[in-house]
Amino acid sequence: MALIKCPECGRQVSDQAAACPECGYPIRKVEYKSVTVSHRLGGGYGGKDEYQRLLSEGWQVVDERLEESENDDGEVYAVHWHYKLQK
Ligand SMILES: [Zn+2]
Repeated sequence: MALIKCPECGRQVSDQAAACPECGYPIRKVEYKSVTVSHRLGGGYGGKDEYQRLLSEGWQVVDERLEESENDDGEVYAVHWHYKLQK
Protein backbone atom coordinates (compact mmCIF):
# COMPACT_ATOMS: atom_id res chain seq x y z
CA MET A 1 0.00 0.00 0.00
CA ALA A 2 1.34 3.39 -0.95
CA LEU A 3 0.30 6.88 -0.05
CA ILE A 4 -0.45 9.30 -2.83
CA LYS A 5 -1.45 12.91 -2.81
CA CYS A 6 -5.10 13.67 -3.49
CA PRO A 7 -5.15 15.76 -6.69
CA GLU A 8 -8.08 17.75 -5.35
CA CYS A 9 -7.16 18.72 -1.78
CA GLY A 10 -3.55 17.56 -1.41
CA ARG A 11 -4.17 15.23 1.50
CA GLN A 12 -2.17 11.99 1.74
CA VAL A 13 -4.44 9.14 0.77
CA SER A 14 -3.93 5.40 0.40
CA ASP A 15 -3.80 4.43 -3.24
CA GLN A 16 -6.16 1.60 -2.34
CA ALA A 17 -8.86 3.98 -1.13
CA ALA A 18 -11.89 4.29 -3.35
CA ALA A 19 -12.14 7.99 -2.59
CA CYS A 20 -10.33 10.69 -0.64
CA PRO A 21 -11.71 10.71 2.93
CA GLU A 22 -11.27 14.48 3.05
CA CYS A 23 -12.97 15.70 -0.10
CA GLY A 24 -14.44 12.57 -1.67
CA TYR A 25 -12.35 12.80 -4.82
CA PRO A 26 -12.41 9.37 -6.51
CA ILE A 27 -8.92 7.88 -6.11
CA ARG A 28 -9.39 4.46 -7.50
CA LYS A 29 -11.85 3.56 -10.17
CA VAL A 30 -14.02 0.72 -8.97
CA GLU A 31 -14.56 -1.93 -11.60
CA TYR A 32 -17.39 -4.40 -11.73
CA LYS A 33 -17.59 -7.79 -13.31
CA SER A 34 -20.23 -10.44 -13.30
CA VAL A 35 -19.76 -14.15 -13.50
CA THR A 36 -22.19 -17.03 -13.44
CA VAL A 37 -21.38 -20.37 -11.87
CA SER A 38 -23.72 -23.09 -13.02
CA HIS A 39 -24.17 -26.45 -11.39
CA ARG A 40 -26.00 -29.00 -13.42
CA LEU A 41 -27.43 -31.50 -10.97
CA GLY A 42 -25.79 -34.84 -11.59
CA GLY A 43 -23.44 -33.09 -13.97
CA GLY A 44 -20.62 -30.70 -13.51
CA TYR A 45 -19.91 -27.10 -12.81
CA GLY A 46 -19.55 -24.33 -15.34
CA GLY A 47 -17.85 -21.03 -14.72
CA LYS A 48 -16.30 -22.16 -11.46
CA ASP A 49 -12.73 -21.83 -12.67
CA GLU A 50 -13.27 -18.26 -13.82
CA TYR A 51 -14.99 -17.40 -10.55
CA GLN A 52 -12.11 -18.77 -8.49
CA ARG A 53 -9.58 -17.04 -10.71
CA LEU A 54 -11.31 -13.70 -10.17
CA LEU A 55 -11.34 -14.23 -6.39
CA SER A 56 -7.63 -15.05 -6.45
CA GLU A 57 -7.04 -11.82 -8.38
CA GLY A 58 -8.63 -9.84 -5.55
CA TRP A 59 -12.16 -9.44 -6.85
CA GLN A 60 -14.78 -9.40 -4.13
CA VAL A 61 -18.36 -10.54 -4.32
CA VAL A 62 -20.74 -7.67 -3.65
CA ASP A 63 -23.95 -9.33 -4.78
CA GLU A 64 -25.15 -12.81 -5.55
CA ARG A 65 -28.36 -14.14 -6.95
CA LEU A 66 -29.49 -17.73 -7.23
CA GLU A 67 -31.47 -18.92 -10.20
CA GLU A 68 -32.87 -22.37 -10.84
CA SER A 69 -33.63 -23.99 -14.15
CA GLU A 70 -36.57 -26.35 -14.27
CA ASN A 71 -37.50 -28.89 -16.87
CA ASP A 72 -41.02 -29.31 -18.24
CA ASP A 73 -41.98 -31.41 -15.21
CA GLY A 74 -41.03 -28.62 -12.86
CA GLU A 75 -37.94 -30.40 -11.61
CA VAL A 76 -34.84 -28.37 -10.95
CA TYR A 77 -32.03 -29.66 -13.14
CA ALA A 78 -29.53 -26.85 -12.75
CA VAL A 79 -28.78 -24.00 -10.41
CA HIS A 80 -26.93 -20.85 -11.38
CA TRP A 81 -25.24 -18.41 -9.07
CA HIS A 82 -24.95 -14.98 -10.59
CA TYR A 83 -22.18 -13.10 -8.85
CA LYS A 84 -21.41 -9.44 -9.08
CA LEU A 85 -17.82 -8.67 -8.21
CA GLN A 86 -15.99 -5.46 -7.59
CA LYS A 87 -12.34 -4.57 -7.54
ZN1 LIG B 1 -9.02 15.05 -1.29
